[in-house]
Amino acid sequence: MTADQPDNRPTDRPADRPNDQTNDRSADPQADRPDDRPNDQADDQRAVAILMYHSVTDRPTPETRGLSVPVAAFADQMAHLAAEGFTPLPFSALGSAAHSRARRPVVITFDDGYADFHENALPILERHGFAATVFVTTGWLADAGADAAGRPLDRMLSWAQAAEAAAHGIEIGGHSHSHPQLDQLDDHALREELVRSRDLLEERLGAPVRTMAYPFGYSSARVRRMVRAVGYDTACAVANRMAAGAADPLAVPRLTVRATTRPRTFARVVEGRDIPLIFLKDHALTRAYAVVRRTRYALRRATAPHHALTSPRPSDPHRVPAPRRGNTPHPDEAPASESRETRP
Ligand SMILES: [Zn+2]
Repeated sequence: MTADQPDNRPTDRPADRPNDQTNDRSADPQADRPDDRPNDQADDQRAVAILMYHSVTDRPTPETRGLSVPVAAFADQMAHLAAEGFTPLPFSALGSAAHSRARRPVVITFDDGYADFHENALPILERHGFAATVFVTTGWLADAGADAAGRPLDRMLSWAQAAEAAAHGIEIGGHSHSHPQLDQLDDHALREELVRSRDLLEERLGAPVRTMAYPFGYSSARVRRMVRAVGYDTACAVANRMAAGAADPLAVPRLTVRATTRPRTFARVVEGRDIPLIFLKDHALTRAYAVVRRTRYALRRATAPHHALTSPRPSDPHRVPAPRRGNTPHPDEAPASESRETRP
């Protein structure tokens, strides 16, 4: 690790200046820099790529395929980070002294808690001494027993494997209990999802859990208020842009890594020099889809019988995004009819 190597690059960018590479560049005075960087975030140690992985496997299920990364590709990506001197930090270390000291900070996250994290990703992370964060859906765990909830998409971690990962320095965060679309739940069910997941993780792993990732990557203002109220400090979203010092700690954007992410794209994304077109497109679609979802929730509130709101079906991760014919999407992906971007 290179956490004690000071980084003396200037950090004088005003905290309130947008650091969103997807902003309209015509309004950005930095847009005409000779090296064609959209802004100066490559010079800002607070701007950090937060990578989002799901399954790391050569044998994905039809539902995890869209967001799985082959083992060799993951190994190459981690080797690239090591060779380029990046310092992976746990997600909760963002904004901490360790973040300030870190040379070329980056955050590596995994959603859902697939067994292949333990089998395939952990040995590679260990080889490099890399920190990472796994956001676990507690009701999906292989031996959840009486707490089982929802419908796992592949073999999931066991509690023992999650504990072993934690013992090896992997940060474990929450990802709800049953992987519902949190913004579609009423307040009572929403609180239950957040609290049950957190309490189970703390009880079984013996460490405080103050961070989480939203299932499907999306949160509403109401969801974020509840997340804060029940005691989480930070939460991951998906916006496919860099996270900056001024990012909302309850909606920190992440960058999707998938099987189709080429080495050159990966290198450019973690550098923060450029966000390729595919990510720009993802971000635009994320925003568009959020509007669709808000409208839907309002309609359901207005028209659904009361029980439809108080008895959600969190066990069915597909109940809003309908499966695409012939190509079952990961529940963290939106249906093709609305957008094709990723939502963890
Ligand atoms: Zn997920």
